[in-house]
Amino acid sequence: MSVGSVILVGAGPGDPGLLTRKGLEALRQAEVVVFDRLVGPDILSLMPENAEKIDVGKQASNHPVPQYRINQILLEKALEGKRVVRLKGGDPFLFGRGGEELELLKENGISFEEVPGVTSALSVPAYAGIPVTHRDYCSSVHIITGHAKAGAELKIDFDALRRTNGTLVFLMGVTALPLICKGLLDAGMAGDMPAAVIERGTLPRQRKVVSTLEKLPQTAQEANIVSPAIIVVGRVCTLSDSFDWFDHLPLKGREIIVTRPAERNGSLCGKLSALGASVTAYPCIRTAERADNPELEGAIGKLNDYRWLVFTSPVGPGIFFKHLRKQHKDARALWNLKIAAIGPKTAAELEKFGVFADLVPETYDSDHLAQAMAHVEGPVLLCRASEGSDALPKLFMEKGIPFADVACYDTIYEAPNSDSVKELVQSGAIVTFTSASTVRGFVRSLPDTDFSKIVGCCIGRQTAAEAEKYGIPVRIAEKATMESLIACIKGVY
Ligand code: SAH
Repeated sequence: MSVGSVILVGAGPGDPGLLTRKGLEALRQAEVVVFDRLVGPDILSLMPENAEKIDVGKQASNHPVPQYRINQILLEKALEGKRVVRLKGGDPFLFGRGGEELELLKENGISFEEVPGVTSALSVPAYAGIPVTHRDYCSSVHIITGHAKAGAELKIDFDALRRTNGTLVFLMGVTALPLICKGLLDAGMAGDMPAAVIERGTLPRQRKVVSTLEKLPQTAQEANIVSPAIIVVGRVCTLSDSFDWFDHLPLKGREIIVTRPAERNGSLCGKLSALGASVTAYPCIRTAERADNPELEGAIGKLNDYRWLVFTSPVGPGIFFKHLRKQHKDARALWNLKIAAIGPKTAAELEKFGVFADLVPETYDSDHLAQAMAHVEGPVLLCRASEGSDALPKLFMEKGIPFADVACYDTIYEAPNSDSVKELVQSGAIVTFTSASTVRGFVRSLPDTDFSKIVGCCIGRQTAAEAEKYGIPVRIAEKATMESLIACIKGVY
Protein backbone atom coordinates (compact mmCIF):
# COMPACT_ATOMS: atom_id res chain seq x y z
CA MET A 1 0.00 0.00 0.00
CA SER A 2 1.34 3.46 -0.82
CA VAL A 3 2.02 5.91 1.96
CA GLY A 4 -0.38 8.84 2.38
CA SER A 5 0.29 12.48 3.02
CA VAL A 6 -0.66 15.20 5.44
CA ILE A 7 -1.72 18.75 4.66
CA LEU A 8 -1.81 21.21 7.52
CA VAL A 9 -4.62 23.59 6.69
CA GLY A 10 -5.36 26.91 8.35
CA ALA A 11 -9.12 27.22 8.71
CA GLY A 12 -9.07 30.93 9.51
CA PRO A 13 -10.65 32.59 12.53
CA GLY A 14 -14.23 31.32 12.17
CA ASP A 15 -16.00 33.16 9.36
CA PRO A 16 -16.18 30.41 6.71
CA GLY A 17 -15.56 33.00 4.00
CA LEU A 18 -12.03 33.37 5.34
CA LEU A 19 -11.00 29.81 4.56
CA THR A 20 -8.58 30.00 1.62
CA ARG A 21 -9.38 28.42 -1.73
CA LYS A 22 -6.39 26.15 -1.40
CA GLY A 23 -7.53 25.10 2.07
CA LEU A 24 -11.02 24.34 0.80
CA GLU A 25 -9.63 22.26 -2.06
CA ALA A 26 -7.46 20.23 0.34
CA LEU A 27 -10.46 19.69 2.60
CA ARG A 28 -12.61 18.48 -0.29
CA GLN A 29 -10.00 15.89 -1.24
CA ALA A 30 -9.43 14.66 2.32
CA GLU A 31 -9.99 11.06 3.41
CA VAL A 32 -9.25 11.84 7.05
CA VAL A 33 -9.77 15.21 8.74
CA VAL A 34 -8.23 15.83 12.15
CA PHE A 35 -9.67 19.04 13.57
CA ASP A 36 -9.50 21.35 16.57
CA ARG A 37 -11.93 23.03 18.90
CA LEU A 38 -11.51 26.45 17.30
CA VAL A 39 -12.62 25.35 13.85
CA GLY A 40 -16.17 26.62 13.41
CA PRO A 41 -19.20 24.46 12.51
CA ASP A 42 -19.65 26.12 9.13
CA ILE A 43 -16.18 25.05 8.09
CA LEU A 44 -16.64 21.57 9.56
CA SER A 45 -19.74 21.20 7.40
CA LEU A 46 -17.47 21.47 4.33
CA MET A 47 -15.74 18.19 5.16
CA PRO A 48 -16.53 15.41 2.69
CA GLU A 49 -19.38 13.30 3.99
CA ASN A 50 -17.47 10.04 3.77
CA ALA A 51 -14.20 11.34 5.26
CA GLU A 52 -13.16 10.01 8.65
CA LYS A 53 -13.49 12.89 11.11
CA ILE A 54 -11.33 12.97 14.21
CA ASP A 55 -12.09 15.66 16.77
CA VAL A 56 -8.95 16.23 18.81
CA GLY A 57 -10.40 19.34 20.43
CA LYS A 58 -12.25 17.32 23.00
CA GLN A 59 -12.58 13.76 24.21
CA ALA A 60 -15.33 12.08 26.18
CA SER A 61 -13.74 13.40 29.37
CA ASN A 62 -13.73 16.86 27.80
CA HIS A 63 -9.94 17.05 27.81
CA PRO A 64 -8.25 17.76 24.54
CA VAL A 65 -6.23 14.96 22.98
CA PRO A 66 -2.59 15.48 24.10
CA GLN A 67 -0.21 16.83 21.48
CA TYR A 68 1.98 13.71 21.25
CA ARG A 69 -1.15 11.67 20.50
CA ILE A 70 -2.26 14.07 17.75
CA ASN A 71 1.19 13.74 16.18
CA GLN A 72 0.82 9.95 16.30
CA ILE A 73 -2.67 10.00 14.78
CA LEU A 74 -1.39 12.03 11.82
CA LEU A 75 1.46 9.57 11.33
CA GLU A 76 -0.74 6.47 11.70
CA LYS A 77 -3.33 7.70 9.22
CA ALA A 78 -0.67 8.69 6.71
CA LEU A 79 0.93 5.25 7.06
CA GLU A 80 -2.47 3.72 6.33
CA GLY A 81 -2.15 5.43 2.95
CA LYS A 82 -4.73 8.14 3.61
CA ARG A 83 -4.88 11.73 2.41
CA VAL A 84 -4.96 13.46 5.77
CA VAL A 85 -5.95 17.06 6.42
CA ARG A 86 -4.98 18.54 9.74
CA LEU A 87 -7.40 21.44 10.11
CA LYS A 88 -6.41 24.12 12.58
CA GLY A 89 -7.87 27.43 13.68
CA GLY A 90 -6.35 30.58 12.17
CA ASP A 91 -2.90 29.94 10.75
CA PRO A 92 -1.27 26.59 11.65
CA PHE A 93 2.18 28.09 12.22
CA LEU A 94 1.10 30.94 14.46
CA PHE A 95 0.73 29.61 18.00
CA GLY A 96 -0.78 26.56 16.41
CA ARG A 97 1.85 23.92 17.09
CA GLY A 98 1.95 23.28 13.38
CA GLY A 99 5.73 22.91 13.55
CA GLU A 100 5.53 20.30 16.30
CA GLU A 101 3.09 18.25 14.25
CA LEU A 102 5.38 18.19 11.25
CA GLU A 103 8.43 16.96 13.15
CA LEU A 104 7.24 13.37 13.54
CA LEU A 105 6.08 13.27 9.93
CA LYS A 106 9.46 14.52 8.75
CA GLU A 107 11.28 11.88 10.84
CA ASN A 108 9.15 9.17 9.24
CA GLY A 109 9.50 10.41 5.71
CA ILE A 110 5.80 11.30 5.27
CA SER A 111 5.20 13.96 2.66
CA PHE A 112 3.41 17.06 3.86
CA GLU A 113 2.30 20.53 2.87
CA GLU A 114 1.17 23.58 4.79
CA VAL A 115 -1.68 25.81 3.68
CA PRO A 116 -1.46 29.07 5.62
CA GLY A 117 -4.65 30.42 7.10
CA VAL A 118 -5.99 33.87 7.91
CA THR A 119 -4.78 34.36 11.46
CA SER A 120 -7.08 35.59 14.18
CA ALA A 121 -4.27 37.90 15.30
CA LEU A 122 -4.91 40.21 12.35
CA SER A 123 -8.43 39.37 11.20
CA VAL A 124 -10.21 39.55 14.55
CA PRO A 125 -9.05 43.13 15.19
CA ALA A 126 -10.02 43.90 11.57
CA TYR A 127 -13.59 42.70 12.18
CA ALA A 128 -13.68 44.97 15.22
CA GLY A 129 -12.65 48.00 13.18
CA ILE A 130 -9.01 47.97 14.38
CA PRO A 131 -6.30 48.12 11.70
CA VAL A 132 -3.29 46.68 13.53
CA THR A 133 -1.02 49.28 11.96
CA HIS A 134 -1.71 52.83 10.84
CA ARG A 135 1.03 55.25 9.87
CA ASP A 136 -0.29 57.97 12.17
CA TYR A 137 -0.17 55.72 15.21
CA CYS A 138 2.55 53.08 15.04
CA SER A 139 5.12 51.42 12.85
CA SER A 140 5.07 47.87 14.12
CA VAL A 141 2.78 45.14 15.37
CA HIS A 142 3.74 42.37 17.80
CA ILE A 143 1.94 39.12 18.40
CA ILE A 144 2.41 37.61 21.82
CA THR A 145 1.02 34.56 23.58
CA GLY A 146 -0.61 35.17 26.93
CA HIS A 147 -0.41 31.51 27.79
CA ALA A 148 2.58 29.92 29.46
CA LYS A 149 3.73 26.34 28.76
CA ALA A 150 2.19 23.95 31.30
CA GLY A 151 3.72 24.43 34.73
CA ALA A 152 5.76 27.48 33.71
CA GLU A 153 5.24 31.13 34.64
CA LEU A 154 4.10 33.67 32.08
CA LYS A 155 7.37 35.19 30.88
CA ILE A 156 6.85 38.32 28.84
CA ASP A 157 9.42 41.07 28.47
CA PHE A 158 6.96 43.92 29.07
CA ASP A 159 9.70 46.50 29.07
CA ALA A 160 10.79 45.50 25.59
CA LEU A 161 7.18 45.52 24.40
CA ARG A 162 6.58 49.01 25.74
CA ARG A 163 9.67 50.30 23.97
CA THR A 164 8.47 49.14 20.58
CA ASN A 165 5.71 51.76 20.61
CA GLY A 166 3.89 49.30 18.37
CA THR A 167 0.50 47.64 18.49
CA LEU A 168 0.50 44.62 20.83
CA VAL A 169 -1.76 41.69 20.03
CA PHE A 170 -2.11 39.01 22.69
CA LEU A 171 -3.55 35.59 21.89
CA MET A 172 -4.71 33.11 24.53
CA GLY A 173 -4.67 35.94 27.04
CA VAL A 174 -8.11 36.05 28.68
CA THR A 175 -7.04 34.37 31.92
CA ALA A 176 -3.84 36.38 32.12
CA LEU A 177 -5.50 39.69 31.14
CA PRO A 178 -4.95 41.34 34.57
CA LEU A 179 -1.32 40.17 34.60
CA ILE A 180 -0.70 41.44 31.08
CA CYS A 181 -2.15 44.88 31.78
CA LYS A 182 -0.30 45.15 35.08
CA GLY A 183 2.96 44.09 33.41
CA LEU A 184 2.64 46.82 30.80
CA LEU A 185 1.67 49.47 33.36
CA ASP A 186 4.61 48.49 35.60
CA ALA A 187 6.88 48.79 32.58
CA GLY A 188 5.75 52.40 32.26
CA MET A 189 3.04 52.26 29.62
CA ALA A 190 0.43 55.02 30.07
CA GLY A 191 -2.72 53.98 31.92
CA ASP A 192 -4.87 55.68 29.30
CA MET A 193 -3.34 53.69 26.41
CA PRO A 194 -6.33 52.48 24.36
CA ALA A 195 -6.90 48.73 24.60
CA ALA A 196 -9.55 46.27 23.49
CA VAL A 197 -10.66 42.66 23.88
CA ILE A 198 -12.57 40.92 21.09
CA GLU A 199 -14.37 37.67 21.81
CA ARG A 200 -15.37 35.13 19.12
CA GLY A 201 -14.07 37.42 16.42
CA THR A 202 -15.40 37.23 12.84
CA LEU A 203 -18.37 35.15 14.01
CA PRO A 204 -21.95 36.39 14.28
CA ARG A 205 -21.68 36.45 18.06
CA GLN A 206 -18.53 38.55 18.09
CA ARG A 207 -18.35 40.94 21.04
CA LYS A 208 -15.83 43.63 21.78
CA VAL A 209 -14.87 45.78 24.71
CA VAL A 210 -12.83 48.91 24.07
CA SER A 211 -11.29 50.64 27.06
CA THR A 212 -7.91 51.78 28.41
CA LEU A 213 -5.01 49.68 29.60
CA GLU A 214 -5.82 50.57 33.19
CA LYS A 215 -9.51 49.74 33.04
CA LEU A 216 -9.55 46.85 30.57
CA PRO A 217 -9.38 43.95 33.07
CA GLN A 218 -12.35 45.32 34.99
CA THR A 219 -14.42 46.18 31.88
CA ALA A 220 -13.74 42.78 30.32
CA GLN A 221 -14.72 41.03 33.53
CA GLU A 222 -17.94 43.02 33.79
CA ALA A 223 -18.76 42.08 30.22
CA ASN A 224 -17.96 38.47 31.09
CA ILE A 225 -15.54 38.07 28.20
CA VAL A 226 -14.40 34.49 27.75
CA SER A 227 -11.97 32.62 25.50
CA PRO A 228 -11.40 32.65 22.56
CA ALA A 229 -10.58 36.31 22.61
CA ILE A 230 -7.85 38.62 21.37
CA ILE A 231 -6.39 41.49 23.33
CA VAL A 232 -5.15 44.53 21.43
CA VAL A 233 -3.14 47.26 23.12
CA GLY A 234 -2.22 50.40 21.20
CA ARG A 235 -3.44 53.69 19.88
CA VAL A 236 -5.01 52.05 16.84
CA CYS A 237 -7.81 50.91 19.16
CA THR A 238 -9.23 54.45 19.08
CA LEU A 239 -10.24 53.78 15.46
CA SER A 240 -12.46 50.89 16.49
CA ASP A 241 -15.67 52.89 16.71
CA SER A 242 -15.49 54.70 13.44
CA PHE A 243 -14.16 51.73 11.48
CA ASP A 244 -16.48 49.14 12.95
CA TRP A 245 -18.27 47.74 9.94
CA PHE A 246 -19.03 44.28 11.28
CA ASP A 247 -21.15 45.26 14.28
CA HIS A 248 -23.14 47.51 11.97
CA LEU A 249 -24.21 44.83 9.54
CA PRO A 250 -28.03 44.90 9.41
CA LEU A 251 -28.55 41.42 10.86
CA LYS A 252 -25.48 41.30 13.10
CA GLY A 253 -25.88 38.74 15.86
CA ARG A 254 -29.47 37.83 14.91
CA GLU A 255 -30.36 34.17 15.21
CA ILE A 256 -32.04 32.86 12.08
CA ILE A 257 -33.15 29.30 11.40
CA VAL A 258 -33.45 28.39 7.71
CA THR A 259 -35.81 25.49 7.09
CA ARG A 260 -35.42 25.05 3.34
CA PRO A 261 -34.39 21.67 1.99
CA ALA A 262 -30.63 21.20 2.20
CA GLU A 263 -30.06 21.29 -1.55
CA ARG A 264 -31.74 24.68 -1.84
CA ASN A 265 -30.77 26.57 1.32
CA GLY A 266 -27.21 27.50 0.33
CA SER A 267 -27.79 30.88 -1.17
CA LEU A 268 -30.25 32.05 1.48
CA CYS A 269 -27.94 30.95 4.32
CA GLY A 270 -24.98 32.63 2.62
CA LYS A 271 -26.83 35.89 2.04
CA LEU A 272 -28.07 36.06 5.64
CA SER A 273 -24.59 35.29 7.01
CA ALA A 274 -23.11 38.01 4.85
CA LEU A 275 -25.54 40.42 6.54
CA GLY A 276 -24.11 39.39 9.90
CA ALA A 277 -26.79 36.91 10.99
CA SER A 278 -26.04 33.78 12.95
CA VAL A 279 -27.60 31.23 10.63
CA THR A 280 -28.63 27.71 11.53
CA ALA A 281 -29.46 25.56 8.52
CA TYR A 282 -32.27 23.28 9.62
CA PRO A 283 -33.51 21.43 6.59
CA CYS A 284 -36.53 19.67 8.05
CA ILE A 285 -37.93 18.61 4.69
CA ARG A 286 -36.49 17.13 1.56
CA THR A 287 -38.03 16.17 -1.72
CA ALA A 288 -37.81 12.59 -2.92
CA GLU A 289 -38.53 11.57 -6.46
CA ARG A 290 -40.74 8.51 -6.77
CA ALA A 291 -38.82 5.52 -8.06
CA ASP A 292 -41.88 4.28 -9.95
CA ASN A 293 -44.42 6.76 -11.13
CA PRO A 294 -47.06 5.07 -13.30
CA GLU A 295 -49.38 8.03 -12.85
CA LEU A 296 -46.90 10.49 -14.29
CA GLU A 297 -45.91 8.04 -17.03
CA GLY A 298 -49.57 7.60 -17.91
CA ALA A 299 -50.10 11.36 -18.12
CA ILE A 300 -47.02 11.77 -20.30
CA GLY A 301 -48.34 8.98 -22.52
CA LYS A 302 -51.38 11.08 -23.39
CA LEU A 303 -50.03 14.63 -23.20
CA ASN A 304 -52.13 15.66 -26.16
CA ASP A 305 -55.25 15.32 -24.06
CA TYR A 306 -54.15 18.33 -21.99
CA ARG A 307 -54.16 22.06 -22.76
CA TRP A 308 -52.02 23.24 -19.83
CA LEU A 309 -49.05 21.84 -17.97
CA VAL A 310 -48.33 23.40 -14.56
CA PHE A 311 -45.19 23.28 -12.42
CA THR A 312 -45.30 24.63 -8.86
CA SER A 313 -41.65 24.26 -7.85
CA PRO A 314 -38.22 24.09 -9.49
CA VAL A 315 -38.04 20.38 -8.65
CA GLY A 316 -40.88 19.45 -11.02
CA PRO A 317 -39.42 20.14 -14.50
CA GLY A 318 -36.37 17.91 -14.01
CA ILE A 319 -38.50 14.95 -12.97
CA PHE A 320 -41.06 15.54 -15.72
CA PHE A 321 -38.45 15.67 -18.47
CA LYS A 322 -36.68 12.62 -17.13
CA HIS A 323 -39.88 10.63 -17.54
CA LEU A 324 -40.52 12.20 -20.94
CA ARG A 325 -37.08 11.05 -22.06
CA LYS A 326 -37.79 7.57 -20.76
CA GLN A 327 -40.60 7.40 -23.31
CA HIS A 328 -38.14 8.60 -25.92
CA LYS A 329 -39.85 11.95 -26.26
CA ASP A 330 -38.48 15.49 -26.11
CA ALA A 331 -39.76 19.08 -25.87
CA ARG A 332 -41.68 18.62 -29.14
CA ALA A 333 -44.15 16.47 -27.23
CA LEU A 334 -45.33 19.67 -25.55
CA TRP A 335 -46.18 21.45 -28.79
CA ASN A 336 -49.87 21.60 -28.06
CA LEU A 337 -49.59 22.64 -24.42
CA LYS A 338 -49.44 25.97 -22.66
CA ILE A 339 -47.09 25.95 -19.72
CA ALA A 340 -47.39 27.66 -16.34
CA ALA A 341 -44.61 28.05 -13.76
CA ILE A 342 -45.14 29.30 -10.23
CA GLY A 343 -42.13 31.62 -10.35
CA PRO A 344 -38.97 32.59 -12.23
CA LYS A 345 -36.84 29.82 -10.66
CA THR A 346 -39.25 27.20 -11.96
CA ALA A 347 -39.39 28.97 -15.32
CA ALA A 348 -35.58 28.95 -15.43
CA GLU A 349 -35.58 25.19 -14.80
CA LEU A 350 -37.96 24.74 -17.72
CA GLU A 351 -35.70 26.78 -19.95
CA LYS A 352 -32.94 24.25 -19.32
CA PHE A 353 -35.10 21.82 -21.28
CA GLY A 354 -35.70 24.29 -24.08
CA VAL A 355 -39.17 25.35 -22.95
CA PHE A 356 -40.38 28.85 -22.07
CA ALA A 357 -43.26 29.25 -19.62
CA ASP A 358 -46.34 30.96 -21.05
CA LEU A 359 -47.56 32.06 -17.67
CA VAL A 360 -45.73 33.12 -14.49
CA PRO A 361 -47.97 34.92 -11.97
CA GLU A 362 -46.89 38.35 -10.77
CA THR A 363 -46.69 37.09 -7.20
CA TYR A 364 -45.03 33.73 -7.05
CA ASP A 365 -47.35 31.60 -4.96
CA SER A 366 -50.14 29.09 -5.45
CA ASP A 367 -52.93 31.58 -4.73
CA HIS A 368 -51.75 33.95 -7.41
CA LEU A 369 -51.06 31.15 -9.83
CA ALA A 370 -54.62 29.95 -9.24
CA GLN A 371 -56.01 33.44 -9.85
CA ALA A 372 -54.01 33.75 -13.04
CA MET A 373 -55.42 30.43 -14.27
CA ALA A 374 -59.05 31.15 -13.43
CA HIS A 375 -60.13 31.31 -17.08
CA VAL A 376 -57.91 28.81 -18.82
CA GLU A 377 -59.18 26.10 -21.03
CA GLY A 378 -58.66 22.61 -19.57
CA PRO A 379 -57.79 19.92 -19.09
CA VAL A 380 -54.84 20.97 -16.92
CA LEU A 381 -52.01 18.67 -15.89
CA LEU A 382 -50.56 19.61 -12.49
CA CYS A 383 -47.06 18.23 -11.91
CA ARG A 384 -46.12 18.82 -8.32
CA ALA A 385 -45.55 17.50 -4.77
CA SER A 386 -47.86 14.83 -3.43
CA GLU A 387 -48.83 17.17 -0.61
CA GLY A 388 -49.31 20.35 -2.63
CA SER A 389 -51.39 23.37 -1.72
CA ASP A 390 -55.12 23.01 -2.44
CA ALA A 391 -55.44 26.46 -4.05
CA LEU A 392 -55.22 25.18 -7.63
CA PRO A 393 -57.43 22.05 -7.33
CA LYS A 394 -60.02 24.10 -5.45
CA LEU A 395 -60.16 26.74 -8.15
CA PHE A 396 -60.35 24.23 -10.98
CA MET A 397 -63.22 22.47 -9.25
CA GLU A 398 -65.08 25.72 -8.68
CA LYS A 399 -64.63 26.76 -12.27
CA GLY A 400 -65.37 23.35 -13.67
CA ILE A 401 -61.98 23.13 -15.35
CA PRO A 402 -60.95 19.49 -15.74
CA PHE A 403 -57.55 18.69 -14.31
CA ALA A 404 -55.23 15.88 -13.21
CA ASP A 405 -53.11 16.33 -10.11
CA VAL A 406 -50.04 14.17 -10.59
CA ALA A 407 -47.47 13.74 -7.83
CA CYS A 408 -43.95 14.13 -9.24
CA TYR A 409 -42.26 13.77 -5.88
CA ASP A 410 -42.92 13.30 -2.18
CA THR A 411 -42.06 15.58 0.69
CA ILE A 412 -40.09 13.78 3.36
CA TYR A 413 -40.08 15.29 6.82
CA GLU A 414 -36.86 14.96 8.74
CA ALA A 415 -35.12 16.83 11.52
CA PRO A 416 -31.42 16.85 12.19
CA ASN A 417 -29.84 18.39 15.34
CA SER A 418 -33.15 19.51 16.85
CA ASP A 419 -31.73 20.05 20.38
CA SER A 420 -29.76 23.15 19.52
CA VAL A 421 -32.72 24.43 17.48
CA LYS A 422 -35.03 23.92 20.43
CA GLU A 423 -32.89 26.29 22.49
CA LEU A 424 -33.00 28.90 19.75
CA VAL A 425 -36.77 28.55 19.51
CA GLN A 426 -37.13 29.07 23.22
CA SER A 427 -34.97 32.17 23.21
CA GLY A 428 -36.83 33.61 20.22
CA ALA A 429 -35.17 33.29 16.82
CA ILE A 430 -36.43 34.15 13.35
CA VAL A 431 -37.44 31.12 11.33
CA THR A 432 -37.78 31.26 7.56
CA PHE A 433 -40.58 29.29 5.95
CA THR A 434 -40.68 29.04 2.18
CA SER A 435 -43.64 26.68 1.89
CA ALA A 436 -46.38 25.20 4.06
CA SER A 437 -44.47 21.91 4.05
CA THR A 438 -41.44 23.55 5.68
CA VAL A 439 -43.78 24.72 8.46
CA ARG A 440 -45.10 21.19 8.94
CA GLY A 441 -41.60 19.71 8.91
CA PHE A 442 -40.41 22.27 11.45
CA VAL A 443 -43.32 21.80 13.83
CA ARG A 444 -43.18 18.00 13.62
CA SER A 445 -39.49 18.03 14.48
CA LEU A 446 -40.14 19.92 17.72
CA PRO A 447 -43.01 18.26 19.55
CA ASP A 448 -44.42 19.94 22.69
CA THR A 449 -42.74 23.24 21.91
CA ASP A 450 -44.04 26.74 22.49
CA PHE A 451 -43.53 28.68 19.27
CA SER A 452 -44.84 32.01 20.52
CA LYS A 453 -41.37 33.58 20.89
CA ILE A 454 -40.18 32.99 17.34
CA VAL A 455 -41.06 35.06 14.33
CA GLY A 456 -41.90 33.08 11.21
CA CYS A 457 -40.86 34.98 8.09
CA CYS A 458 -42.91 33.39 5.35
CA ILE A 459 -43.17 33.28 1.61
CA GLY A 460 -46.82 33.20 0.64
CA ARG A 461 -50.09 33.62 2.52
CA GLN A 462 -50.72 29.89 2.67
CA THR A 463 -47.37 29.31 4.33
CA ALA A 464 -48.18 31.99 6.88
CA ALA A 465 -51.64 30.52 7.49
CA GLU A 466 -50.05 27.13 8.16
CA ALA A 467 -47.58 28.70 10.63
CA GLU A 468 -50.36 30.55 12.46
CA LYS A 469 -52.12 27.24 13.07
CA TYR A 470 -49.26 26.36 15.43
CA GLY A 471 -49.19 29.70 17.22
CA ILE A 472 -46.21 31.06 15.31
CA PRO A 473 -46.28 34.87 15.00
CA VAL A 474 -45.71 35.58 11.30
CA ARG A 475 -44.51 38.15 8.82
CA ILE A 476 -45.12 37.70 5.12
CA ALA A 477 -42.57 38.65 2.48
CA GLU A 478 -43.99 41.06 -0.05
CA LYS A 479 -42.95 38.88 -2.97
CA ALA A 480 -42.06 35.23 -3.26
CA THR A 481 -38.36 35.88 -3.77
CA MET A 482 -35.34 35.40 -1.54
CA GLU A 483 -34.61 39.14 -1.73
CA SER A 484 -38.08 39.92 -0.48
CA LEU A 485 -37.78 37.33 2.28
CA ILE A 486 -34.53 38.96 3.40
CA ALA A 487 -36.21 42.39 3.37
CA CYS A 488 -38.99 40.89 5.49
CA ILE A 489 -36.41 39.59 8.01
CA LYS A 490 -34.70 42.98 8.17
CA GLY A 491 -38.10 44.50 8.89
CA VAL A 492 -38.52 42.41 12.05
CA TYR A 493 -35.89 44.48 13.87
N1 SAH B 1 -3.34 29.60 15.07
C1 SAH B 1 -4.36 30.47 15.57
C2 SAH B 1 -4.14 30.83 17.02
C3 SAH B 1 -4.25 29.65 17.94
S1 SAH B 1 -4.04 30.08 19.59
C4 SAH B 1 -4.46 31.72 14.69
O1 SAH B 1 -3.60 31.95 13.85
O2 SAH B 1 -5.44 32.45 14.83
C5 SAH B 1 -5.71 30.27 20.11
C6 SAH B 1 -6.02 31.71 20.37
O3 SAH B 1 -6.31 32.38 19.17
C7 SAH B 1 -7.23 31.93 21.23
O4 SAH B 1 -6.96 31.79 22.60
C8 SAH B 1 -7.57 33.37 20.89
O5 SAH B 1 -6.71 34.25 21.56
C9 SAH B 1 -7.22 33.42 19.42
N2 SAH B 1 -8.42 33.22 18.58
C10 SAH B 1 -8.58 32.28 17.65
N3 SAH B 1 -9.78 32.43 17.03
C11 SAH B 1 -10.36 33.50 17.59
C12 SAH B 1 -11.58 34.17 17.39
N4 SAH B 1 -12.46 33.77 16.46
N5 SAH B 1 -11.86 35.25 18.14
C13 SAH B 1 -11.00 35.68 19.06
N6 SAH B 1 -9.82 35.08 19.30
C14 SAH B 1 -9.50 34.01 18.57
